[in-house]
Amino acid sequence: MNILEIIEAKKVGRALTEQEIGFVVDGFTGEAFASYQMAAFLMAVWFRGMNEAETAALTGAMLRSGDELDTSGFAEPTADKHSTGGVGDKVSLLLAPLAAACGLRVPMLSGRGLGHTGGTLDKLESIPGYRIHMDNDEFLGIVARAGCAIIGQSGSIAPADGRIYALRDVTGTVDCVPLITASIMSKKLAAGPGTIIIDLKTGSGAFMSDLARARELAGALVTVGRLYGRRMAVVFSDMDQPLGTAVGHANETIEAFAALRPDGRRQGPADLVALTEELVAEMVRVAGLAADRATALAAVRAAWDSGRAFDVLLGWIKAQDGRLDPDREDFGLEVAPLALELEAPGDGWLESMDCRQVGLSLADLGGARRKVEDPLDLTAGIDFLPAIGDRINRGDVLARVYSHDRQRAAACAGRILDAVKIGAEAVPARDLIIDRLE
Ligand code: URA
Repeated sequence: MNILEIIEAKKVGRALTEQEIGFVVDGFTGEAFASYQMAAFLMAVWFRGMNEAETAALTGAMLRSGDELDTSGFAEPTADKHSTGGVGDKVSLLLAPLAAACGLRVPMLSGRGLGHTGGTLDKLESIPGYRIHMDNDEFLGIVARAGCAIIGQSGSIAPADGRIYALRDVTGTVDCVPLITASIMSKKLAAGPGTIIIDLKTGSGAFMSDLARARELAGALVTVGRLYGRRMAVVFSDMDQPLGTAVGHANETIEAFAALRPDGRRQGPADLVALTEELVAEMVRVAGLAADRATALAAVRAAWDSGRAFDVLLGWIKAQDGRLDPDREDFGLEVAPLALELEAPGDGWLESMDCRQVGLSLADLGGARRKVEDPLDLTAGIDFLPAIGDRINRGDVLARVYSHDRQRAAACAGRILDAVKIGAEAVPARDLIIDRLE
C-alpha cells in the first residue's frame, strides 16, 4: 500500500477498503507522509465522497488514534448529546444534570467555541474553580457519583481528528459530509455512551444552514453510530435566532442554571426549555428508560419540577471544584458591569436576523474567538431580547450588551442592529423543532 495509489484511487471514485483508510489515518498521524498528500486525499474525498462502510472505517481509524473511555462498569444506561453548534446554545448545561436525574449516566467531553458558535467548555470556565481537566478515572468516578460530568476533550481523545481538522480548515474541505461525520463521531464514540442524541441545527446561525444538507449529515451520523452499536436519534432544531436570551459565557451559564431551578421550566426562556426537554426525553426514551415520548417527557418534567435536576447540578459542579452560590440570582458568576442598551430604531415586527452575525458580535466584545488561540473575556455577553415574529415599538430595548469597554460595546451593538430586520408586516413565530429522525 502507498499513499499515492490511495489518492489516485479516491480521485477516480473507487471505494477504499478499511485497511487503506486505516493506512491513511495512521500514516498521517505517524508523519509517514507529507501533509500535502493528506490534503490531496481530503480533496479527493470532498469531490468523490465516501460510502457508509468507508465513513465508518474513517471514524474507526480516527477513534482508535486515541483513548476510549470504558463505561461498561455503569449499572445505569449511559447517554450523551451532540449539538452541531449554535448561538446561545447552552443546552448541555441543563441537559446533563436533567438526564442524570432521570436515571441516566452522562459522561460528556466538550469543546471550545470557534467563530460564531459558543462552546460549552468556555461557558463552564466562567464558574470560579471549575476544573475542566482531569484523568479518565477521576472523570468516570464523578459521573458515577454525581450522575454527570463535563470535561474538556483532551489531546488524547481522537488526536487524528485534531490534526485532520486543522488541515481541512486550510484546504477548503470542512464542508464534506463523510469528513464531518467521522470527525464528530470519532470524538463522541470515545466517551463511551450507549445512546447518542444529535441536535442538528439549521438556519442562519447554524454550521449547516441548509435543511437538505443537514438531513444528509443526520443520516450519515445515525448510520455510523448504529454500526458502532450505539442507539441513535436526531432532532432537527431551528437556529435562525439565538437560543434563550443570553449569548456569552457567564451570562449564558447563569441563564441555564436559573432555568433549571424547580420553577424554571415554567419561568425560563420557552425555547430553551422546550429544546432541552425534547432532547432529554429522547435520551431517556432511546436509552430504554421510557416506552414512548410522552412517558419520557413526563419523567423529564418530574425531575425538573421536583428540584432533583437542580440538586444534581449542584453536586456535579461541586465535584469538579466549581463554586456556585445557589442563593444568589447570578450564582456568584461575574458579568461585565457596563450594560449598553440597544434600542429599536423604528416600529414594526422582528422579521428575521442574520444569527451568525449576532454570534460574531460577541467577538467584538472579546467574548468569542476568531483564532483557536485567542483569549476570551468570559464576563462579556449579550442579552438578545425579542424573538422573530414579535411586535417591536421604536425605543424598545432589542439587546443589552455587557462589556468592560464602551467602544467595544458600541461596535457589538452596531453589528447586531445591522443583523436584524424590522419589517412593516407581521410575520409568524418560527417553529423550534423542525423534524426528528429515529
Ligand atoms: N464539528 C466537528 O467536530 N467536526 C467537523 O468536521 C465539523 C463540525
